[in-house]
Amino acid sequence: MATNQPTRSLVTGGAGFLGSHLCDSLIASGHQVICLDNLFTGHLDNIAHLRANPAFTFIKHDVVEPFDFDVDQVWNLACPAAPGHYRYDPVKTLRTSVWGVMHCLEIGRRRGARVFHASTSEVYGDPTVHPQPESYRGNVNPIGPRACYDEGKRAAETLCFDYRRMHGTDIKVVRIFNTYGPRMHPYDGRVVSNFVCQALRGEPMTIYGDGTQSRAFCYVDDLIAGFRKLMDSRDGFTGPVNMGNPGEFTMLELAQAVAAELGEKDMIEHRPLPADDPTQRQPDITLAKKELGWEPKVPLREGLRRTIAWFRALDMSKYAPPSPFFEQPEAQRK
Ligand code: NAD
Ligand code: UDP
Repeated sequence: MATNQPTRSLVTGGAGFLGSHLCDSLIASGHQVICLDNLFTGHLDNIAHLRANPAFTFIKHDVVEPFDFDVDQVWNLACPAAPGHYRYDPVKTLRTSVWGVMHCLEIGRRRGARVFHASTSEVYGDPTVHPQPESYRGNVNPIGPRACYDEGKRAAETLCFDYRRMHGTDIKVVRIFNTYGPRMHPYDGRVVSNFVCQALRGEPMTIYGDGTQSRAFCYVDDLIAGFRKLMDSRDGFTGPVNMGNPGEFTMLELAQAVAAELGEKDMIEHRPLPADDPTQRQPDITLAKKELGWEPKVPLREGLRRTIAWFRALDMSKYAPPSPFFEQPEAQRK
């Protein structure tokens, strides 16, 4: 259902980093929200401020198991997103991607709900085309350590489009590029959270490889604004549509930016590059601009400032790494 009207929305993965910001945005616009999460990488603190709101319901549930709710909109975000998290149990990651989206699409098929699916730039793998437009079909190693995530997300996209072809299901698919901000899990091993936490502890920032690999970093508020525009986009516009900030930085440049924000000299330490680590990544957002009138607004330094302030105030004792392999590049695993 297309809508700017208040809806009943289901958000899977709603206690996670992006999901909790999405719940905030929906609640602020007067929507009713059911947040479904198994709390694998999400945290109740992310939604603590919403729990007393009668428009908000939290249900602890694993999306691998069936679920059904009478809603108008389904937002499928449940899936570990950081390499250290999705590699913890790769088989579970694949099941989460595939079964999670199937259960969402079934709600779409049975109830006519519009289904938004959070896909990823990882569907492009280690891209040979730069920047990456949606038409690029990718360069994924189907048997490598990242494949559980990349191929799981590719299969999930396939399911979205097959449900549309077979059942006319109303789908919206976004390919998200590296996004950062408050409520990232401090132990998720992603580069922004790692650098910020390390720098705040006065430790060297860990650069994997020589640090010349690039990523483009989008601040969370910009991304959530794009999500809302996509969900409310015209009937028939399905995506996939790239969302991310086209500003491209090497990991060395990111370390310098974090150090500069903290007013310190950048201390770095090199570690081995994980297997299949993409060399270069940058979104082509022409389609999002044209179709949705969307583009990110928050520059990297401003986003880092807000993120650093959040991590500085965080009670780290409430968080633990979910994986014994956490932060260990593949090469060092026993
Ligand atoms: P996150 O790990 O903070 O959020 C994922 C949420 O899903 C967590 O709350 C987690 O507990 C929940 N979850 C995981 N497995 C589940 C399961 N089996 N059942 C129920 N809940 C489950 O990560 P995020 O960055 O907020 O990512 C959200 C979505 O966006 C993911 O689907 C991810 O693949 C996608 N994405 C994120 C980025 C990014 O840069 N943040 C980039 C590309 C795609
Ligand atoms: N990276 C790094 N140091 C870290 C964590 C990550 O140099 O402490 C690198 C990683 O090898 C990759 C880039 O930063 O090249 C982005 O990694 P992240 O895990 O944040 O996202 P993804 O690889 O999924 O884009």
